[in-house]
Amino acid sequence: MPSAFDAAKRMIAAMMAGRSTEEIAQQSRPDTTTPLKPWIRPAKRLEPTFTAANWKTLLANSGATEADKAELYDAKAQEQLERYEHNVENYIGTLRLPVGVIGPLRVNGIFAKGDFYVPLATSEAALVASYGRGARLISSVGGATTGTLAEGVHRSPGFAFASTTDAGLFVAWVCMNFEMLKEAAEKTTRHGKLVELSPHVEGDHVYLVCSYTTGDAAGQNMVTIATERVCAAILEHSPVKPLYWFVEANFSGDKKASAMSFVGVRGRKVTASVELPGEEIAKQLHTTPKRMEDYWRMSALGGVMSGSIGVQGHYANGLAALYLATGQDAACVAESAVGVTRMELREGNRLFVSVTLPNIIAGTVGGGTGLPTQSAGLNIMGLKGAGKARVFGEVCAALCLAGELSIIAALCAHEFASAHKNLARGKA
Ligand code: NAP
Repeated sequence: MPSAFDAAKRMIAAMMAGRSTEEIAQQSRPDTTTPLKPWIRPAKRLEPTFTAANWKTLLANSGATEADKAELYDAKAQEQLERYEHNVENYIGTLRLPVGVIGPLRVNGIFAKGDFYVPLATSEAALVASYGRGARLISSVGGATTGTLAEGVHRSPGFAFASTTDAGLFVAWVCMNFEMLKEAAEKTTRHGKLVELSPHVEGDHVYLVCSYTTGDAAGQNMVTIATERVCAAILEHSPVKPLYWFVEANFSGDKKASAMSFVGVRGRKVTASVELPGEEIAKQLHTTPKRMEDYWRMSALGGVMSGSIGVQGHYANGLAALYLATGQDAACVAESAVGVTRMELREGNRLFVSVTLPNIIAGTVGGGTGLPTQSAGLNIMGLKGAGKARVFGEVCAALCLAGELSIIAALCAHEFASAHKNLARGKA
């Protein structure tokens, strides 16, 4: 069996190809003598003159050509420049991504009820076709049952004290002053509500997990601004003062899969399930309920042995494509694409399939949801604006259910490689 030592030897051979160790060492030392390329001028406001200056720098100093500029900074990107004002700095244009659509995906949920067309932005062939196939199967048997199980977005300021006694006294004071701190937080927002303060003590450090509901916004900015105000109130009123503090001490699960968010919630915890007759699985997915259950069992153990948080096939594919198409923060796929898929053979050759995702952090207002094409994506779903975020969360769950069904069936029917060969490479 190959060892880590073999892998290291291969890597060293690739690094050394045609070079001496001294040349490599020289290359990796800090270089303060070669003149630096011109700086990109930092610009918070979006203005044509700043964009023109950026392009001048790039054309003279990078591999970009006038043709590249015309692609990124086309007529729409120029005309709609102001629409991006609150979403990017140092603007040089917009990116075009292909968008496919699937559906109708029928959802029978606590908040989502209806048939949804779902836009998916991706450069990965086979993704849209695969999710579309899963959605077709789900809708043809009456739809997915969905539910929103919990809500909460967190910020976790950290406070350092001179002793564990001070840390303990601080926690006691915070717990007794929840109402005052809640009032301070909620002065910064109409829709954000501070629902819980959860202190975690480590020696003389305190991580204070502040949990909010955030209305129809994904809420990360909202909770940051509100928590800054909570911290200000703490510093002003607490009889025990920290030596130092930070508004976020990396305990909130922001932009990363975490055990805490997996057992709790980050954004919304949503679930979707469906029970499928064997005949439909044979007709539409070319396999059987028994084989799908066998695959699920083996892949669940594979996931456990690999150390994944949760056990699922590829939530990230559907979520990344949907997040991009609807103006969600794409980096939140890091935390959202976590959960549990389950498949069980039921009486009468039927297959029960469920997905449960505790970290769907997405909104139908705020963030990138108002951008021109992303706003169009939300309109396709009928989910733009206030009162729609819970519906959006449940559609995310139904989408992931469709994706799990399709990929697992493709693996069961040995169609996984051929589908990619046909669709991505154009070869039968
Ligand atoms: P936001 O666009 O900063 O804020 C949402 C805005 O929508 C607020 O002004 C809110 O007003 C308003 N609003 C109107 N109707 C609403 C409704 N029905 N429900 C909720 N809000 C409503 O967006 P955000 O969701 O707070 O933050 C998301 C963005 O944060 C993403 O773009 C993400 O990339 C970014 N982000 C930030 C951090 C960070 O630490 N700051 C970390 C990760 C990601 P009120 O506040 O008065 O209710």
